[in-house]
Amino acid sequence: MGTLEQAAARFADRELVLVVDDRDQAVFLACPADGIDVQRLERLHALGGGMVVLGLPESAARRLALPAPWRQTHGARHTVGGHGPRKLALTAPIDAAAGIDGGWSLRDRALTMRVAADPDSRSSDLTIPGHVYPALVDERPRSAAAAAIELARLSGRAPAVALCAVVDRQGRVASLREARLDDRLGRLQVAPVAELQSGSIARQAAELSIGCTLPTRDGMFRAVGYAAADADPATVVLIHGDPAARTMPLVHVHVACLFGDAFGSLLCDCRRQLDGAATAIVRDGAGVIVYAKPRQPTAAACVCDEPIDGALVAGLLQAAGVRELRLLDGGRQAQLQEDLRRCGLVVAR
Ligand SMILES: [Zn+2]
Repeated sequence: MGTLEQAAARFADRELVLVVDDRDQAVFLACPADGIDVQRLERLHALGGGMVVLGLPESAARRLALPAPWRQTHGARHTVGGHGPRKLALTAPIDAAAGIDGGWSLRDRALTMRVAADPDSRSSDLTIPGHVYPALVDERPRSAAAAAIELARLSGRAPAVALCAVVDRQGRVASLREARLDDRLGRLQVAPVAELQSGSIARQAAELSIGCTLPTRDGMFRAVGYAAADADPATVVLIHGDPAARTMPLVHVHVACLFGDAFGSLLCDCRRQLDGAATAIVRDGAGVIVYAKPRQPTAAACVCDEPIDGALVAGLLQAAGVRELRLLDGGRQAQLQEDLRRCGLVVAR
């Protein structure tokens, strides 16, 4: 059983797992909110040391008619989870509308979380203000909260999680290394965030992407566009044939190069690589070209050495049915190869 399957099995059994934020390395404890009870909430508090919040995807926030995160209505962003820009967007605290006695106790807060997590609950099942803080989780950016919600989906539970940052008594956010030194935390499963992120992108790309048939000089491709966030440039995926049915299909990951790709600049090799990849893939019968745009606009003539977002590429390849691959020009992209493997893809050496 792989790490992802193990973490999903633990989550399905309502066990606590550790989730590490890819960006600021903050460690969170997570438990599926639809299965939380007094004992689990108590463990989250005791082991995490931070405030326990209820992570909900935006679809759940709409279903429950929760107000927009306070950062939008009050200017300042209310956050938990420590330093850096990667914080949770909290909204007004909630209580279950029925079955609670004041809302303060662990029993009451666990019940409120279960009610909010229930896919059949509506806004009338909650009251505001209450004693449980929901954090609205944008599932597109890479965060520990988004990974935990993906783990909940994957383990067959409702997409809602009880989250607690692992902090010391001074409020300093622990690293994974520090968390593992604690006997009780060290025994918990660590969720494989990279795999959860690429899985989340694959699921969303299947739902959100826009595609068309694209005849080219080399042959027919299916073009699919996907943007990880509203402000991000779309990544275009060109699929030839049926890569899912092909053993080790060819994949070319290309960083958009205006001068090279569009004008045939001889200052770099980009156009030749792109043309060569399309020809090789069509000759091979099936394969994928991922055409990624650099995150930041740049004045540089060629940006083909820019780092590539491995989880995004992996997710889009998975959405195209690719589980194993041969990377064209892979020697140049050692880091990408490593990232794709971390996301669960098999990359030929
Ligand atoms: Zn170039």
